[in-house]
Amino acid sequence: MPIGAGVVAEPIVGAVRGFRWWRLTGTSLTSPWRGDVRWTREDNLASCLGRRWLLRWKQHGVPHDRGVPEPECSCGFYAMLQAPTEGGDAAPGCWPLNPSLSGGPIALVFGVVKGSGRVILGEYGWRAEHARVDALYVPPSRTPSELLLTVAQMYGAEVYRDLPAMRDERGPDALTMDLARLPA
Ligand SMILES: [Zn+2]
Repeated sequence: MPIGAGVVAEPIVGAVRGFRWWRLTGTSLTSPWRGDVRWTREDNLASCLGRRWLLRWKQHGVPHDRGVPEPECSCGFYAMLQAPTEGGDAAPGCWPLNPSLSGGPIALVFGVVKGSGRVILGEYGWRAEHARVDALYVPPSRTPSELLLTVAQMYGAEVYRDLPAMRDERGPDALTMDLARLPA
């Protein structure tokens, strides 16, 4: 996970953008690794999934005083500040998955997520209380499936075929990147 415990919470005004993966499940985008959260087409509100208990995520008995995400916990919607390059090594804080896999047979889709509300910003990524799907990526080597195009339209997410273009047009802004590099 890109953000460990103990990262300083930085209040952010407005929306913050970042990169992440989703799983294409039927006609929905879901969180691929935690909690099997189904993303709605509009705003998504994070809840604390607590800790992994046997094979399932167990809710915390007590909600966080300050809300979700809590710095000491791992809740909230995750995003990375840097997009990995296709064919290159993973950037720091990136999930070790190459964007060339996006939209392919493993049903994982890479894209841009917009976070808002309470945000915890770390050096490599953020966790946010609110999130929505902003853009999806399908590499130029692959023809996007009808299903994926339909789902992208349903979510109001533009489909990019050019990773640098998506990074430049939809990636985190300079202010976010500056804040992320503040010494904790
Ligand atoms: Zn939590």
